[in-house]
Amino acid sequence: SADPRDLLLRRVAADNVAFVHLQFTDVLGIGKTVTIPVEELPDALDHGVWFDGSSIEGFARMVESDMYLVPDLTTYAVVPWDRHEGMVTARLICSVYTPDGKPFAGDPRNVLIRILDQAAASGYRFMVAPELEFFLFKVDGNGRIHEPHDKAGYFDVSTDLATHIRRQMARTLQAMGITVEAVHHEVAPGQHEIDLRYADALRSADHLVTARVALKAVAQINGLHATFMPKPMAGVNGSGMHVHQSLLDLESGKNLFADPNDPYGLSALARHFIAGLLTHARGMCVLLAPLVNSYKRLVPGFEAPVHISWGRTNRSALVRVPRITAGRLQSTRIELRCPDPACNPYLAYAAMLAAGLDGIRRKLPLRDAAEEDLFHVDPRARGLAMLPTSLGAALDALREDEVILEAIGPSVAERFLDAKQQEWESYRAHVSQWEIDRYLAIF
Ligand code: GLU
Ligand code: MG
Ligand code: MG
Repeated sequence: SADPRDLLLRRVAADNVAFVHLQFTDVLGIGKTVTIPVEELPDALDHGVWFDGSSIEGFARMVESDMYLVPDLTTYAVVPWDRHEGMVTARLICSVYTPDGKPFAGDPRNVLIRILDQAAASGYRFMVAPELEFFLFKVDGNGRIHEPHDKAGYFDVSTDLATHIRRQMARTLQAMGITVEAVHHEVAPGQHEIDLRYADALRSADHLVTARVALKAVAQINGLHATFMPKPMAGVNGSGMHVHQSLLDLESGKNLFADPNDPYGLSALARHFIAGLLTHARGMCVLLAPLVNSYKRLVPGFEAPVHISWGRTNRSALVRVPRITAGRLQSTRIELRCPDPACNPYLAYAAMLAAGLDGIRRKLPLRDAAEEDLFHVDPRARGLAMLPTSLGAALDALREDEVILEAIGPSVAERFLDAKQQEWESYRAHVSQWEIDRYLAIF
């Protein structure tokens, strides 16, 4: 029969699967998994798998702790690096449900599903393509992480030591059903990028969670450490996760951002969407760039955005409108450049979409593009607002943004803000080497 459940069980048998990881993420986007022997799978598919939600970061209080996982059958994949003594392990990504059979509002995946449903009700399908940047670091015999793996730069051939590792990474992702468009060395020593093909936002967020684990696994097999820390080294570029985005018509699949008669190739809808992204840039920033360290990437001079602006060519803009091949209107899209690869992709996509939809709903006007290099102009003279400059400021901005708070819902908002405020307080109380070097002898 064509019953999805039976089809899945047949595939599992054909792949000779012995164990299945049931995966989900906490509010911070950290992957969680419970592993079941394949014999338990039919029962898991029919009744879900219970777990204690109170032990998951940002999930639940003791009193509401019982939850269960409902596997999304379309996420089935064999885990290529997880093969011990010939035993095959597969994974299924799950949504979290409460005992009364409702999607748990504190599950980031459910947050994204809810906002995608809202978009669908307006006839929109949200497509995204992330560019995942990361560093490879050397690891010594004691597991300590040292300097970057190589000294190469952007697209370098001669000094790049990781060409075979990037190919291995691409192959691993492909084997898991994730289409890779390109891989290359990035600007900083030891820095790389993998560009994933555009996909529906939910699929793409699943892909990102998988890709982060997969790239770490492949790095480890090669004796290296892959890090998605946004700014692991001062003085060189950090790692961003630019997200290309567009809205398609749910029925026809037509790209609603395209207008060949506009100088930027953008429809009025696309302009409202960008205006929404700019309006909520400060409020959603902490969901897109969530670490203390994220704000050391968002500084002038390293191809990361600082001001809230948009434009065609310049890499200091927050939103860039990439050129498209003549006539290929379907690939019209905009690129948001503030996210970094440490974000929870479910919450990040939910926030971006909510921001864009708000721009459309309120028909927000889009200010003129800023085409000059903003790293070298006085933004105040241009009347440009700035992204938050610290985790603390970004948390305050989220607290003031009703649209973004509403998008992630009170349950996730409360727990996310709590966890991140603690992180910020801990950092604030820390006295760094920079301060010792700068002040101890003089004052
Ligand atoms: N690594 C830069 C960043 O922090 C982006 C470089 C690029 O344009 O790809 O966002
Ligand atoms: Mg890049
Ligand atoms: Mg880019």
